[in-house]
Amino acid sequence: MKKSKYFIFNWLIFIVLLLQIITNIESDKEIYHGLFYIFLTYFIVIGLASFMLCLSFYGKVQCKSKNNKILYSFDDGPDPIITPQILTILQKNNIKAIFFCIGKKAERYPHIIQDIINQGHQIGNHSYSHSHKFGFYSIKKLQYEIRFTNRILQKITNKKIKYFRPPAGIMNPKIYKVALAEKMIILGWSIRSFDTFLPQKFVLYILSKAQKNDIILLHDNRLKTISTLGIYCGKER
Ligand SMILES: [Zn+2]
Repeated sequence: MKKSKYFIFNWLIFIVLLLQIITNIESDKEIYHGLFYIFLTYFIVIGLASFMLCLSFYGKVQCKSKNNKILYSFDDGPDPIITPQILTILQKNNIKAIFFCIGKKAERYPHIIQDIINQGHQIGNHSYSHSHKFGFYSIKKLQYEIRFTNRILQKITNKKIKYFRPPAGIMNPKIYKVALAEKMIILGWSIRSFDTFLPQKFVLYILSKAQKNDIILLHDNRLKTISTLGIYCGKER
């Protein structure tokens, strides 16, 4: 089995740590100094890697589509106001997308999940709670978040849920291990539209750079995304 970058990095740090101790065995001061920088480097790399999903640092993350088309992905729905309008724009422009749904919202709006499926789009798992503490959850709690959401989505769609995207795109060894054990494909993105906070003209500029096989990250819980998508599709077609 191919070793992850995380596994190799841990071994590298361990070797540097050993060398640091062996070569400075005579001086406590030098050892502590070196250890400080080694641990600082370790935590900076781990921190950055957690936010950069497509580095595939902890294991494989798919960040490109495979069908020579742009794949539009919408996170954080379903939303009773926004998702139906996004669906209308996609239908008008004959675009198929994937919606990464939050379990507790899917429970409240199963009819929207049904609409998404009926219009030929895919549904992915985006956790049950979308908690900002997700990265700190125990294995057991992560299993619950992913399994329970799969159960809700499968019950509504009658389809097996294959794709998982962690909340806020934050990855760590525990999340990776649980998603893998649940036999899920972790889907990232190659273009982040920043539709949650950038002004529309910048989002449109980012979207205009998309090429075939790119996966674009958008959100179907933002009113602004409706008009941005409408303008973008109008220009594109
Ligand atoms: Zn999200």
